[in-house]
Amino acid sequence: MRYRGRFAPSPTGPLHAGSLVAALASWLDARAHGGDWLVRIEDVDEPRCRAGAAELILGQLAACGMQPDEPVWWQSQRGDAYRAALQALVASGRAYPCSCTRSEIDAVWAERGVRHQPDAERIYPGTCRGGLHGKPARAMRLRAEGTVHWHDRRLGPQVQDVAREVGDFVLQRAGGLWAYQLAVVVDDAAQGITHVVRGEDLADNTARQILLQRALGLATPVYLHTPLVLAADGRKLSKQNGARALDLAAPVAALQEAAQVLALPRIEAQSPADWLAAAVPAWAGIITGFANGSTP
Ligand code: GLU
Repeated sequence: MRYRGRFAPSPTGPLHAGSLVAALASWLDARAHGGDWLVRIEDVDEPRCRAGAAELILGQLAACGMQPDEPVWWQSQRGDAYRAALQALVASGRAYPCSCTRSEIDAVWAERGVRHQPDAERIYPGTCRGGLHGKPARAMRLRAEGTVHWHDRRLGPQVQDVAREVGDFVLQRAGGLWAYQLAVVVDDAAQGITHVVRGEDLADNTARQILLQRALGLATPVYLHTPLVLAADGRKLSKQNGARALDLAAPVAALQEAAQVLALPRIEAQSPADWLAAAVPAWAGIITGFANGSTP
């Protein structure tokens, strides 16, 4: 089977040092396998998307010498596919409507003596599993069942009991927005993605995505989660804690910085194209190391 990889940024702002790592690793991995590299703009979370950010990201990738092998997909144009997948899940009894507001979910946990931080993820307590009892449907959830064992090429064997650790998770949000989990699974399958390479902050979504793939009868890609760039406060680098947009006047320096995070050796080159060409064999060496159990 031919390798097909992708970079799937959310256009919430321009690429920064952290997101370039995922872009670069996905590109190098596709090239090292002689495969295709696609770009998909994940613009489903409309309130978080910024006008012009997607175009900026594509321009930044091009300035760094990374061109997608096929036309870019935009999730905002994929609603029909997500709707069809949701209908199939409802028909097979795997998805169900939920009327719970966040404060109702908090109230259930409070009754059980559990308090959440405002931005903490809530495990869904399963309130609407047995029906809405006349209440209005707000969101759609997947009935999460079973423990998922999966393998990450860098992190090794992983396991998550999704029912216990996450609960029935959202596929379509109140107000109709499509959830990342559904959109990413439908599109990875529709684009024939065989290998997913993305930042380690997304690793704990993988078990949910595998459950969804199984529920929809879709193949599971091979996963590799790359190291994160940390900000001065020790948290993942993001716009909120000081990430700046990449300096397009110095793309080779930006690539060099991303390469360090991936434990690639220093590569001297004049142009991004020359730099990338030299980085492909170096990456092939890194992934051989992953297979032998070394993790940067
Ligand atoms: N759109 C997601 C993000 O930018 C990445 C999704 C993925 O690679 O699965 O965080």
